[in-house]
Amino acid sequence: MIESRIVAVLALIGPVSGLAEEAQRLEEEHGPGLIVKQRFDCYLIMTPGDFYPINCGCGRCDELVRSQIYEIDGNGIRYACRFMIVCPKCGNKRCPRASHHDYQCTGSNEPGQTGSKYGPSGGYQEATR
Ligand SMILES: [Zn+2]
Ligand SMILES: [Zn+2]
Repeated sequence: MIESRIVAVLALIGPVSGLAEEAQRLEEEHGPGLIVKQRFDCYLIMTPGDFYPINCGCGRCDELVRSQIYEIDGNGIRYACRFMIVCPKCGNKRCPRASHHDYQCTGSNEPGQTGSKYGPSGGYQEATR
């Protein structure tokens, strides 16, 4: 499985001139078929793949996306800007699927579920930056 990776972060509001050159430069560096997706105040340019963390909705992928953006732009405020992660299926924050997509949705918001970062075993924990 090829996981898509963010290769550039472009400001939503910025100079239009130079964008075509930037797009060409990125394709030469990362190959054809780059994907563009808007996230908050910027466009993310990412490599094509079988799996797109930005579309996943779990805590692990949310952190990965924010880390990759941070590595590119070094913007700590943008890194910190996030919403509460809930399971995309059941909407519960303590559902294990909310913390990591490897876990099945339990449809439950009970505390202490295996795999949940709210669980006793720890589950997936976000790194602090
Ligand atoms: Zn995920
Ligand atoms: Zn769920």
